[in-house]
Amino acid sequence: MKPLGPIPAQFGSSDGELAIAGRTAADLVEQAGGTPLFVYSRQLIADRIARLRAAMPGDLAIHYAVKANPYLPIIQAMDELVDGFDIASGGELARVIEAKIDPAAVSFAGPGKRDDELSAAICAGVTINLESEAEAERALRRAEAAGVTPRLAIRVNPDFDLKGSGMKMGGGAKPFGLDAERVPALVRQIIAAGAEWRGFHIFAGSQALSADAIIETQAQTLALAARLARASGAALPHVNLGGGFGIPYFPGEEPLDLEKVGAALAERMADLPDELADTRFCIELGRYLVGEAGVYLTRIIERKVSHGEVFLITDGGMHHQLAASGNFGTVVRRNYPVAIASRFTARTEEEASVVGCLCTPLDRLADKAGFPRAEVGDLVAVFCAGAYGASASPMHFLGQGPARELLV
Ligand SMILES: *Cc1c(COP(=O)(O)O)cnc(C)c1O
Repeated sequence: MKPLGPIPAQFGSSDGELAIAGRTAADLVEQAGGTPLFVYSRQLIADRIARLRAAMPGDLAIHYAVKANPYLPIIQAMDELVDGFDIASGGELARVIEAKIDPAAVSFAGPGKRDDELSAAICAGVTINLESEAEAERALRRAEAAGVTPRLAIRVNPDFDLKGSGMKMGGGAKPFGLDAERVPALVRQIIAAGAEWRGFHIFAGSQALSADAIIETQAQTLALAARLARASGAALPHVNLGGGFGIPYFPGEEPLDLEKVGAALAERMADLPDELADTRFCIELGRYLVGEAGVYLTRIIERKVSHGEVFLITDGGMHHQLAASGNFGTVVRRNYPVAIASRFTARTEEEASVVGCLCTPLDRLADKAGFPRAEVGDLVAVFCAGAYGASASPMHFLGQGPARELLV
């Protein structure tokens, strides 16, 4: 039997069934009109952010990286919970505008911004995190044509990466950001061009569970920001320190020691070099805010035995849960936290694989894991589904289409 990932401790049961926000999985499926369904808990998101605020220095702003989950009700709910939003496309810009987010609290990163996306963001008053000199030129031209003063920051490609992170986004040659040594010249150029200078965006990686790795990266980030501010000769209004706070998805992974990260950052921020004395700081987090607050529910439509192995075939699959199927940024396939939602408290009785309905061997949600004996009609829950699920999976593969989504 292969182990399953850890089910987030926040989930309980009601009458033996999985309960989310105090309601049974079956009840939520009925409200949504069927499966497959993503359920997101507003309370769990709020609890997570409250804990984050308690752990982090009080003057550190918290931004939500919309990429993790752009579901409109989540963006709207976040408006009361976070201090800013980071977007990475014109599509996400349209979402935050639709959600009536204040554009002054939004910044836009991403290595291939089109001219029309730059124009829309600049005219809305969004800060552009410039990723190259060429993009800076295009942004300045677009702003001039529109007759507005652009808000411009520079995304720095740091000369270090976040150790142990699932996805490295700094250190060495990267399509993201401007190599650090070229930054001071561009700062001077965009200030001379009359733009509103907003500061640096330094994002070194994602999905780190080691507090020590994050602490080290934050220290390096502050040192780099100070060095670049000194070399630029300009005041530094703002630094986005990146994020990278991970959540445990796989067997044996432990939650991040948030309090340790917060204490170390508070210590650093209380003793900043002169260049950063008047600088404001934020972190940007995606999965850490929403990942564990989401559950994907899918129904068993067939129970099949082949060569002695049990397959629970569901009406969902990798087209909504690419990451749980092991096909999104993982090298070795390991099991996500998965459970039979309708028999949540029942004991393990058999080994089974949970598969999706797609006609490909890639479509596997749990491989040879221990479950209570499940039957046709039972609901399966895939946990840690609140980030990079619905919007990061090939929903149109095999003509399947989107899952339902519900914020409760
Ligand atoms: C993807 C991304 C994030 C969010 O990463 P998480 O692992 O979800 O926290 C934040 N900032 C940037 C620049 C990103 O590309």
